[in-house]
Amino acid sequence: METAKYKRVMLKLSGEALASEKGYGIDFDTANTIALQIKKLVEMGVEVGAVVGGGNIWRGRSGEGMDRTTADYMGMLATCINALALQDSLEAIGVNTRVQTAIEMREIAEPYIRRRAMRHLEKGRVVIFAAGTGNPYFSTDTTAALRAAEIEAEVILLAKKVDGVYDKDPHKHEGAVKFNNLSYIEVLEKGLQVMDSTATSLCMDNQIPILVFGLDEPHNIIRAVKGENIGTLVSSNICK
Ligand code: UDP
Repeated sequence: METAKYKRVMLKLSGEALASEKGYGIDFDTANTIALQIKKLVEMGVEVGAVVGGGNIWRGRSGEGMDRTTADYMGMLATCINALALQDSLEAIGVNTRVQTAIEMREIAEPYIRRRAMRHLEKGRVVIFAAGTGNPYFSTDTTAALRAAEIEAEVILLAKKVDGVYDKDPHKHEGAVKFNNLSYIEVLEKGLQVMDSTATSLCMDNQIPILVFGLDEPHNIIRAVKGENIGTLVSSNICK
């Protein structure tokens, strides 16, 4: 039996993580691969909360010329579509799940109720948090930070398209250097593209470590939870 470093984690998947190479829509092979990794976590006894983004369908800032609030609500609805897709992939392989949404839509999901979320987690159900925080002007990274604090997750697993945090965009700059460890303050001061500053500040204030790693290798979710040395760890620890 594989042992996990963490008992309760918050997995943040960007919408793009569900879209695979295409960058838009939902790629069900990808969703199924992610679901299998989550299933393994549950089998290892890890309690899993998940926040999914919506960028593969809609982002508030895509709505150029639109009322910002309306555009953001459209983004929140996009996260609900992704949450249902992930739920479907998980349930298809026998993982018990609940979707909880920050915007009420009774026919398709439970409303977000922290105490109920905690109970589901204790029972080994994966709780997928949909509709972001329910407020415009926020992101799903901030949602992950907020819900992680609320459910007392030990770490945020931030699965990205790159395998960690670099000083420059590694897709554009050959000599980009990857950090193994960073402090929250360094992320904020250097303007590194880990999470938005609201999300990073929330993690800093509540001492929630963020492990940033690449989802190109899906097994990385398991490796991250086992405490293997992958990606970049953002915490209050400033050693390199
Ligand atoms: N959003 C929002 N409030 C929230 C979370 C999300 O308004 O609390 C909207 C916002 O417009 C955002 C979109 O939902 O652009 C999709 O979320 P995000 O961009 O964080 O998705 P990701 O980049 O992770 O796919």
